[in-house]
Amino acid sequence: MTNRLKAAVTTPIAAILCLAGCAASGPSAALPAAAEPEPLAYTVDLTDRSEDTFKVLLRVDDLGSENAIYQFASTAPGTYQVMDIGRYVRRFEAVDASGAIIPSEQVSTNQWRISRPEDVVEIRYELAETWDTPVEEHPVYLMAGTSIEDDHVQINGQAVFGYPTGMQSRPLRIQVVRPDEWIVGTALERDTAGWYRADNYDHVVDSPILTGTLSVASLDVRGTAVDIFTYSKTGAVKSEQILEAVRDILTAAADFLGELPVDRYAFLFHFEDVSMGAWEHSYSSTYTFAEADFAMLLQQGLASIVAHEFLHIVTPLNIHSEIIEQFNFVAPTPSEHVWLYEGATEWMAQISQVRGGVIDPETYLARLSEKLRADDGYDPEWSISDMSLRSYSAKGQREWGNIYQRGAIVAGLLDLEILSRSQGRRGLREVLLELAATYGPDTAFGEAGFFDEITAMTYPDIRPFFERYIRDTEPLPLSELFAHVGVEYIPELRTGEMEPSFNVQVGVQGDRLTFVGVGEVAAACGLTAGDVLLAMDELEVTLATAQQAFTTLHMLGADEPFVLTVMRGEDKVELTCAKQLVERVDRHVLRFDPEATPEQVALREAWLTNLPLPHARP
Ligand SMILES: [Zn+2]
Repeated sequence: MTNRLKAAVTTPIAAILCLAGCAASGPSAALPAAAEPEPLAYTVDLTDRSEDTFKVLLRVDDLGSENAIYQFASTAPGTYQVMDIGRYVRRFEAVDASGAIIPSEQVSTNQWRISRPEDVVEIRYELAETWDTPVEEHPVYLMAGTSIEDDHVQINGQAVFGYPTGMQSRPLRIQVVRPDEWIVGTALERDTAGWYRADNYDHVVDSPILTGTLSVASLDVRGTAVDIFTYSKTGAVKSEQILEAVRDILTAAADFLGELPVDRYAFLFHFEDVSMGAWEHSYSSTYTFAEADFAMLLQQGLASIVAHEFLHIVTPLNIHSEIIEQFNFVAPTPSEHVWLYEGATEWMAQISQVRGGVIDPETYLARLSEKLRADDGYDPEWSISDMSLRSYSAKGQREWGNIYQRGAIVAGLLDLEILSRSQGRRGLREVLLELAATYGPDTAFGEAGFFDEITAMTYPDIRPFFERYIRDTEPLPLSELFAHVGVEYIPELRTGEMEPSFNVQVGVQGDRLTFVGVGEVAAACGLTAGDVLLAMDELEVTLATAQQAFTTLHMLGADEPFVLTVMRGEDKVELTCAKQLVERVDRHVLRFDPEATPEQVALREAWLTNLPLPHARP
């Protein structure tokens, strides 16, 4: 996943193509062999979009007492957040063969108990969309939620479907009834009757569906069929544009991997009025961005986010712990290894670009510096293990974004550590590819022993690295490790250049921004930490308009007045502020040392190259 919330405000930010009418309904011609249980058969009717609810019908007639609890998801893999989908259920009915309602009751947030499960032939329920349904806490990430509109619907499996307890591993068939002209983007494959098939509930959750008025574009990336499906509210963003923007970056990602472990992949883009981020799956990923000028979207890092989600096919898809393998939809269970799933993935997304020639090495260093500066905005006492293990808490959600910053930096340092010890013969990429070959999609590593396992695969002296920089918060060995590749790390570089400054740090609180750090210039106009930003001049500032406000602020010169309206406790306060000229001090500068030794230069070349893979993966 990529959560752009924090970044957006602190820095200026094979699918089956199913054309009209291809989902013919009717009995399946491909029924399973007699010994297998009948798949759970779901119908979701998108032609009835009244009340912004999903009308879901499940046909199942072999429930026993052990299946009496119908379960909705409490969370979903890769989101690291509480979802409690039961909160969105508006109606729940179990029905017997005579059409009579069988009494059932909600027994916890996400569970309904059916009184006579053996009599059930149908379960019908209605679920509100997550996008437009207010909740008091734990809002579901937009890219992981559901939306129902006149011209499109976004389905994330865990937010529409549930399962009878004990049947999480049973195959499913899903009929998506929809307007004839709607296109469907999903990685799910259809059976001969036009129903989407899934191996089990986890597979449905792993396979979002975007349907509606979409544009479509396809490309081949080193033999993998890639389809791009785009919903854009005004039609401003087209799949074809995205395709051109991501072609090189996907090729670089494929070359980084040596060989792609999937034969098809679907990108599902949603452009409306809010930017939030993206969510990865095994054969697809979903993206939620505000519609904007395409150049602006690229500036917000759209292409890098695409690389990030795509590279998740390494981890967690092909390298994951037992906690991810047997995913617990009943109660959120954290894994310590998000440093790998998210941190190493973000590292791969960036370094694959420099190794593939998409960006130059100086740009790569600049992006690392940006991540180090972003890390400064988070709690320094929170270790990367804390980000992993405590992500489901409110504080955890605030610190979560740092997994893409410090998490990626630490993965990069681990790469340098392995690279220098192996004299440039092997780095983190090679270790990850070995792990992917060892484990793959169906085998999990042990949660507790994983650091020891990587140590055993590499060097005994690497073991303390995990304790110091992942489990603990020791200062990162930036100078020491970057020196191996002839890169200088300068914590603060005085430039001598004067520039207009209004130094503040903001955090997100609900739909609003709060000032969490206030520098001297901002304090001079009366701003204090804790003020909640309501408006800048005439612009009401919400998450949706934050980018616009920060762009405006960025463009202002020194002494040009602007008015900030803030909420301070119960009071609304108007402050007239202006930027002032101050010396620019660049923090966390990384630059190539022109006097690097031949050894440093040699290791630098190994660092910026995809090393030859001695053992081709099976
Ligand atoms: Zn991710």
